[in-house]
Amino acid sequence: MNEMPSCTKVIERKARKNHKCCECREVINKGDKYTYLSGIWNGEPADFKQCQKCVLLIEEAWALSQDFGFMPDEGPPLGEFLGWVADYGEQDGSNPMKEALGMSAKEG
Ligand SMILES: [Zn+2]
Repeated sequence: MNEMPSCTKVIERKARKNHKCCECREVINKGDKYTYLSGIWNGEPADFKQCQKCVLLIEEAWALSQDFGFMPDEGPPLGEFLGWVADYGEQDGSNPMKEALGMSAKEG
């Protein structure tokens, strides 16, 4: 079992330079709002940057995880949101979690 990381600090910031989202790996452009999370996990200080798109999806995923019958602390771990949706949302070959989050649309 992975130890669930706990944040000590969550700040909304405006990017002063380009960053990379820790979840979708997309670029957070200079001037865009993003969420900065920092804290100590397993004795190691760490920080994460999330784009607004992911922040909203993660919020929704936490709410959905309750509907899906998960325990209150079984939401997506930091930096592993997309993998979490892929693993935990899958049921019988389809992924209702992904669909509920509007992430099932095929792109490209
Ligand atoms: Zn993102």
